[in-house]
Amino acid sequence: MANVAAGTHLPVTTTRFAPSPSGRLHLGHAYSAAIGRRAGDRFRLRIEDLDPGRCRPEFIDGILEDLAWLGIRWDGEPLIQSQRTHLYADALDQLRERGLVYPCFCTRADIAASLTAPHGDAGAAYPGTCRGLPDDPERRSTTAHSWRLDSAKALAIIGLPTWTEHDGTQFEAKAGDIGDAILARKDAPSSYHLACIVDDANSGVTEVVRGADLRPSTPVQRLLQLLLGLPEPTYRHHALVLHGDGRRLAKRDLAPTLAAMRDGEVDGRALAADLVNGKLPLGFIFSAD
Ligand code: GLU
Repeated sequence: MANVAAGTHLPVTTTRFAPSPSGRLHLGHAYSAAIGRRAGDRFRLRIEDLDPGRCRPEFIDGILEDLAWLGIRWDGEPLIQSQRTHLYADALDQLRERGLVYPCFCTRADIAASLTAPHGDAGAAYPGTCRGLPDDPERRSTTAHSWRLDSAKALAIIGLPTWTEHDGTQFEAKAGDIGDAILARKDAPSSYHLACIVDDANSGVTEVVRGADLRPSTPVQRLLQLLLGLPEPTYRHHALVLHGDGRRLAKRDLAPTLAAMRDGEVDGRALAADLVNGKLPLGFIFSAD
């Protein structure tokens, strides 16, 4: 519903919650969803299920169940990324036609062998082995490959991208933040970065609410938005929920799932209300950023 005050149309803020169904949600997800819901006049739910190796349908049911327990409702139908791969393929085609992506035949082991630093999410550490190879349709039709952004070309067109946090603070990407990120993979029709910006634009997302751990993804995502002429959202990179001793919430650390909290008779709606007010259950703290 539009925000109307004294005859003035205020801009409508659209936020989203975009979990990957690779496990049950924990307190950190609940925090992200609760503040995303609070920040948005409209709030979209997006299931990021493009990674067949990690995602399972039963975890989608789990997400819907957990959000219902928290009393968090979303607007419109949930968007399921695995049903929208043609949109990501179109975006990749646009970049391919402009010579901004290239096929990469490297395996993880090839890449690891040529690096000292771990393979960065935004492709910053990729050594560029396949950049500039002559096009070889025969090899492409017979050999598994991914598609990478030619970041040098893209940056030469766009320059270093900037972004704005919801409090108005402006950031400019540094040259080393962006590399030849993978945009489509051997085993998945689109990477997280490409699907994320296509869907944020498609859903009219005006404010991207997500954990501070995803901040390194923002420079390459802003670059892709600029290349594809997509609108610029603002960003709310929020603090992470940690165990009281500072450890990240992760499955291997036995982070309590929301399902376990529900079984333990926690009141989900009261929990969501507390989270929105920055109040965590005993035994948890926020990260410094
Ligand atoms: N699917 C990502 C995750 O679960 C979130 C991506 C985003 O919010 O941009 O961590």
